[in-house]
Amino acid sequence: MSEEQVSFRDRPININEKGGRKWIYAKKPKGKWYNYRTIVSIIMLAFLVLAPFIKYKGYPLILLDIVNRKFIIFGAIFWAQDTFILALIMLSFVLFIIVFTVTFGRLWCGWLCPQTLFLEMIFRKIEYLIEGDFRKRLKLDNGPWTTEKILKKVLKHGIFIIIAILMTNVFLMWFTGPERLWEIINTPLRENLGNFLIMLFVSGVFYWIYSYFREQICTMVCPYGRMQSVLLDSKSLIVTYDFKRGEPRGHKSGGDCVDCEQCIAVCPTGIDIRNGTQLECVNCAACIDECNNVMIKVKRPPNLIRFDSMENISTGHKTIFTGRTIAYSLVLVVLFSFFVYSITSRKMIETTILRTQGILYQTNADSTISNVYNMVIVNKTHLDIPLEIRILSHKGKIIVAGNKIEVKDQGKYESSFILYIPRDQLKSDNTRVEFGIYNNKSLVEKCTATFVGP
Ligand code: SF4
Ligand code: SF4
Repeated sequence: MSEEQVSFRDRPININEKGGRKWIYAKKPKGKWYNYRTIVSIIMLAFLVLAPFIKYKGYPLILLDIVNRKFIIFGAIFWAQDTFILALIMLSFVLFIIVFTVTFGRLWCGWLCPQTLFLEMIFRKIEYLIEGDFRKRLKLDNGPWTTEKILKKVLKHGIFIIIAILMTNVFLMWFTGPERLWEIINTPLRENLGNFLIMLFVSGVFYWIYSYFREQICTMVCPYGRMQSVLLDSKSLIVTYDFKRGEPRGHKSGGDCVDCEQCIAVCPTGIDIRNGTQLECVNCAACIDECNNVMIKVKRPPNLIRFDSMENISTGHKTIFTGRTIAYSLVLVVLFSFFVYSITSRKMIETTILRTQGILYQTNADSTISNVYNMVIVNKTHLDIPLEIRILSHKGKIIVAGNKIEVKDQGKYESSFILYIPRDQLKSDNTRVEFGIYNNKSLVEKCTATFVGP
């Protein structure tokens, strides 16, 4: 075995034998999958930038206001008291990611993760535009500091800095909303030094990541990336090399792989996918495109590298829709439905009604029995809501202290009321009663309490 084979897994691909950084000069991808990825990226980037601006039911589509512990997800507001439901949503999300990864591999990384989208679809494209493809960039970086090199580097890094600042503002908008961010921007600097320094710091971090740190986020920092070895198995759908078809490699060796190493050249994390799936592979499919381009040139069938499972490659099975894939996909649909249901079924108010402790029932002259209740209503919207309470389960009458129930925008209403029920309607000394809370004559919530009688 050569030294390279023995030490193959001694270190990440972008670290040299002395422990230093090995810079990756990735070739510009070209092909069907790259085009698909560009379309997906445009949609995702548009979502990332526009989500804080889009209003749905009068609220931002997404707002993660950590300072005020208020979260808006697709128009539904979650407060600190909704921690339970938020925890459930987060749990279902984590479970979704795990089942998705076990079934469909690391598609998230190459196709949807903001880190990859920004790096590959914005920063890398600008780099290709200014400095050229991989060979030109390698030559430029290794060459002397000529005027051309200085101009190219200043232009590239200048644009990188501007984009990093814009990215920071978009990122902050997810936490503050555009209106608050605009307020912060328009506040004089001396009154706003803290926020300004945070903005500068985050911009600096973004600039450093996309100009220098790059793919190391995926290979060294991201916990999801590091979990791949436990999440993937031989049935997972991954970008994989058909070693049965490809080997023995070489121009005249009999296998379909001509050993041109173009799949390595194009890989943004610098790996050789022919060594099997590896921690660094983000499933971007650039090597599939590149190998297909080579296969066309050498007149061999495409998809020597493709989306498939290791099991299919080993056994020769063609279908990627196995019983497990279908079963796991159903689990994903259930989890996703739960996620959507949790968001769409959010109530605008939350009411708690409890019989006032220490006060027994009263027998009245009009043959009714009355109980006193305490009522708390939390308004989970940004509107002042006029409400009305009615008894649904019995014929009865309610008299609210102060007569009018109006819950202020994001506020809490606390009051008490008396419920009168005709004696002949009560079958026992402890009856379950149901109340309806109405807004503009439409029922928005039901809740129950006990009613005691003789
Ligand atoms: S691009 Fe295809 S043919 Fe070339 S080395 Fe990679 S797998 Fe082999
Ligand atoms: S091996 Fe292929 S799919 Fe994986 S990161 Fe490299 S180019 Fe992308």
